[in-house]
Amino acid sequence: MDSPKEPQPSGEFKCQLCGLTAPYTYYGQKPPNTCSIELLEDCYVMKDPFTPDKEKILILGSLCSLCGLSVCIGAECSLFYSKRFCLPCVNENLQAFPLEIQEDMDRRKPQKKSFPGKKMDTRT
Ligand SMILES: [Zn+2]
Ligand SMILES: [Zn+2]
Repeated sequence: MDSPKEPQPSGEFKCQLCGLTAPYTYYGQKPPNTCSIELLEDCYVMKDPFTPDKEKILILGSLCSLCGLSVCIGAECSLFYSKRFCLPCVNENLQAFPLEIQEDMDRRKPQKKSFPGKKMDTRT
């Protein structure tokens, strides 16, 4: 089989929050070769390297709709609520989000308290 039209990476996506980098092949809402996929937002996508299926893509990240930061879709970095928001923006505007998001953010907060039942090694 020759498939000369392997998509070449068009650039490198970098999450500006966690520093994750990955080459992306497409940025937008309708990745090529994926007739069945329509994304809800403009995303950085790459072809899924783990499957030969051309339709399989991986969404790497997107741009925060408020500050324009490029953020990965990891729960640590961004949130999708009709648009993509980076977590710093979500935190800044938390009151504007519905309660469920606020609660979700609450749960996501880095655990500063020690886990009950989990031994913390506090040697120095
Ligand atoms: Zn990230
Ligand atoms: Zn933002």
